[in-house]
Amino acid sequence: MDPNATHFVNFQALLIGSKRKFDERWKQPFVERGKLEDFKLIQTLGTGSFGRVMLVKAKKDDSPFALKMLEKAHVVKTKQVKHTISEIRTMDSFDFPFLIKLEYFFKDNVYLCLVMPFVNGGEMFSHLRQQKRFSEELTRFYAAQVILAFEYIHFLGIIYRDLKPENILIDCIGYLKITDYGFCKKVDDQRTYTLCGTPEYLAPEIILSQGYNKSVDWWALGVLIFEMAAGYPPFYARDPMKIYEKIVSGKYIPANHFSKSLKDIIQNFLQVDRTKRYGLLKDGTKDVKSHVFFKGFEWDSVLQKKLKPPFIPSVQGSGDAFNFDFYEETPIKTSSKVLFAKEFDKIEL
Ligand code: ATP
Ligand code: MG
Repeated sequence: MDPNATHFVNFQALLIGSKRKFDERWKQPFVERGKLEDFKLIQTLGTGSFGRVMLVKAKKDDSPFALKMLEKAHVVKTKQVKHTISEIRTMDSFDFPFLIKLEYFFKDNVYLCLVMPFVNGGEMFSHLRQQKRFSEELTRFYAAQVILAFEYIHFLGIIYRDLKPENILIDCIGYLKITDYGFCKKVDDQRTYTLCGTPEYLAPEIILSQGYNKSVDWWALGVLIFEMAAGYPPFYARDPMKIYEKIVSGKYIPANHFSKSLKDIIQNFLQVDRTKRYGLLKDGTKDVKSHVFFKGFEWDSVLQKKLKPPFIPSVQGSGDAFNFDFYEETPIKTSSKVLFAKEFDKIEL
């Protein structure tokens, strides 16, 4: 029997129910919860232009969390107030096995603090660099989870726009959690024009300022599948302008070890012409999930996390940061008065 006979129908029903829940939560007034004093700060897991993400432990029971601290001054200076509020609300409203969720949110005088479950297996990025490249089996297992997550995100009328191995975490059993909703945008059926993302993962329509929607995520998935299986991205140069030229030309060279079906699925995503790109054709994601690269793949088993992951990261304890790079610790900023109180008075869109 076709292992996916019931998957398409069941998953559609799940999406409809999820959208109802998401819309309710998205519209509700936002309730802040927790405070910085509830946590012990352990070490930095990642840094960005905004601030940093730290491993923290709850003082009450030592349970680990990841704390993303965004400096209010920086958010205001870079005119990211709306984007940031959208990041917080998105993280608060998502509920899907492969997407990170907000546990607590609070502000102190200097920072906005987003508390998430700590995903201790590390970034896909580090594992990919360590292993050089992933087997096609592992590439398929990870691609499948991103596909399911994108179906969920897109069904809610949101685009993700920041797919790359740094934003994909691996949990202790080997399943994915996508993080970083900094570029998520609720667009519904509208087009958007903002130039954002990471050079190697940008779709041609972003570079060409053409106005875009979900198409950019499916392009980025093509780039990710290529990079997972090859160990390097399909469009690469030192100079970002050269990367953009290669992307809009749509020309890339598949690695010679790629199987025929892998080459084919990548080619279907890396279509400069959006009317030909997988994920956007008349059968939507059914084309993707029924592609020969996924022949015999059990979509429900991966969704229910019943499929045995081809790779399990080694972790010592639930709160150990052994899979993360080392970062120089810098002191947390403090202030005697509440900074930018007005801008972040309400976390409402
Ligand atoms: P932005 O794009 O909003 O400027 P960023 O890319 O700098 O932010 P994130 O991607 O959210 O920020 O987080 C930075 C890094 O922190 C991640 O790449 C990852 O290594 C680590 N990290 C984020 N969330 C978690 C988490 N829940 N568990 C473990 N590590 C995390
Ligand atoms: Mg990131």
